[in-house]
Amino acid sequence: MSVVATDTLIAPHGGTLVDRTGDRPGDLDSLQVVTLTAREVSDLGMLASGALSPLEGFMGREDYESVVESMRLASGLPWALPVCLAVDEAPANDRVALADESGRKLAVLEVTEAYDYDKGREAENCFRTADDAHPGVARLYAQKPRYVAGRVTVFERPEPSFPELALDPAETRAAFAERGWKRVVGFQTRNPIHRAHEYLTKVALETVDGLLVHPLVGDTKGDDVPVDVRVDCYRVLLDGYYPEDRVLLSAFPAAMRYAGPREAIWHAICRKNYGCSHFIVGRDHAGVGDYYGTYDAQLIFDDLEPHELDIEPMFFEHSFFCKACGTMASAKTCPHDKDEHVFLSGTKVRELLGAGDVPPEEFTRREVAEVLIEAYR
Ligand SMILES: [Zn+2]
Repeated sequence: MSVVATDTLIAPHGGTLVDRTGDRPGDLDSLQVVTLTAREVSDLGMLASGALSPLEGFMGREDYESVVESMRLASGLPWALPVCLAVDEAPANDRVALADESGRKLAVLEVTEAYDYDKGREAENCFRTADDAHPGVARLYAQKPRYVAGRVTVFERPEPSFPELALDPAETRAAFAERGWKRVVGFQTRNPIHRAHEYLTKVALETVDGLLVHPLVGDTKGDDVPVDVRVDCYRVLLDGYYPEDRVLLSAFPAAMRYAGPREAIWHAICRKNYGCSHFIVGRDHAGVGDYYGTYDAQLIFDDLEPHELDIEPMFFEHSFFCKACGTMASAKTCPHDKDEHVFLSGTKVRELLGAGDVPPEEFTRREVAEVLIEAYR
């Protein structure tokens, strides 16, 4: 990594970019091993890189209770979702090794405490539902019954899904500074980018210096489009339709929680750590099913004072191509009737692609459609 001054960029959450990488300890083989789920491994990697600054490890009870109750760490700093490690029982010693499901040891945890938690309360407060049909709630209910807390030192980074797209916060910050960007908008996505989202990112980019396209590549539920297919879609879209010197494509290694509004805040805070000054929040951000109101993920930002988050959320409506306007637009900018709008439901798009049919160019770029048709074949 080249050394570039990054102090023209937004400060990390809490002021300092955390680095919890370190050396493999000599006594590793003598330590009790705690096995992490895929979600916990994602969190561990993000703790290591500072993506979850100011967190230095899995949350203790005081932070956890405060986050669940009032969306703040015990220090008062806004924080939207628990970052916790679930175990069956408290470890016997004050240091344990953390391993992934294959048994590969990744880190050491300095155990400060283990505590019971109320899954129903965490679900109600963080997911706004206790329904176990909700994928995030189902995962919470399936967790082990206690949380173990403490600072981590990660000596073996979790394998990135896309090594060439894996950039730590220090690296995206350096990349922004190198390009001379000060104001950067982050775009979270877990879907292929069709014309509607292309439009949002470009409208946002018109007002800032650069765009970070930051697709989530951690665990998602089974029916989301597979990561490798999505990445191919992003590449052909950026190659054909975005100026190279204004856009950075990198992978966001988080697992989806599907916590809707609270996850929107959490996503924004993480992107602030990556150096973004602005963050796009569409309708139903990080939602699933009909658990959240259309604008809940935007309205929740009103629960915080603007200066507290620092990163600026940019709220968008659904957009579409309007034949009468002759351009992409939204309900905010187009006065015409729905009949003029080129809109396809997700189900309709999957039907078309499944049949090998190319959706209208006003809805999806041909290059993106070709990648998806190939994948559906
Ligand atoms: Zn119109």
